[in-house]
Amino acid sequence: MKAEKVLDRFGINLHIHTLFSDGSFSPEDVITISREADLKVIAVTDHCFLSDYFINTVIYPEQDRHPTYVVFNESPDSWEFFESKDIFKNSSIERYIEVLRALKAGSVKPAILVGGEVSFPANRLMLEEQLEWINNLDLVLFEDVKETQLDEFIEARMQMKCPVGLAHTDFSSAFVKMDLETLVKQLVDADIFIELNTANALRATFFYSYREFFEIGRDLGLKISIGSDAHSRPADIVRLEDGESFVRELGLEKNLEWIYKLARID
Ligand SMILES: [Zn+2]
Repeated sequence: MKAEKVLDRFGINLHIHTLFSDGSFSPEDVITISREADLKVIAVTDHCFLSDYFINTVIYPEQDRHPTYVVFNESPDSWEFFESKDIFKNSSIERYIEVLRALKAGSVKPAILVGGEVSFPANRLMLEEQLEWINNLDLVLFEDVKETQLDEFIEARMQMKCPVGLAHTDFSSAFVKMDLETLVKQLVDADIFIELNTANALRATFFYSYREFFEIGRDLGLKISIGSDAHSRPADIVRLEDGESFVRELGLEKNLEWIYKLARID
């Protein structure tokens, strides 16, 4: 029974948070849970970006911007939350990458990708300053990209060497006016993947309601990923069914294959 289920699964979760940002799992927990569930490829994608506001007012009020913290939230209200986490206090993007690379090297299954999640900033120069570490990741997810910023985002993406994707895209608010085929073509040309986010039923409607987009994407070779945006519940690390059944229903298997190649597994 179990084997059957496993064979039937893609075993991909490219969106997981840990104690390095706003998740409650240690990276080791994530690997253990994924391994027990027979996942094949996972990406830890902690929030890796600070707004000017947060840095200047909360963390380093007297210093220049310090972009090396791995942190998620722009709200000063969260400061207590951060202080309660030892791992955060001494955390830096370099340390984050180092810890995950070591775990990656020691794990045969699941294959681990060292990722990050970045909120698309209002100020693109700020993003360009981050390119050095972004290019040290195995992949990067962007959230909050809207159609009005798509050209700017694509321009920034061209400077990134790792795979770049859009996390939990709500087409009904992010891409309202654009013709779907034009959108797919732009994403394919810029080599940007789209995540099927399985965090909850609401997120699943983000893709279930946009079948046409994914049908066009299937035919034009759009890369897709599956990610659960897991933060605190172990069950969320393996909560992938909505994305997996969508892939099967629409025949998107080939659009997922880039992930196995990236992780060097067949
Ligand atoms: Zn996330």
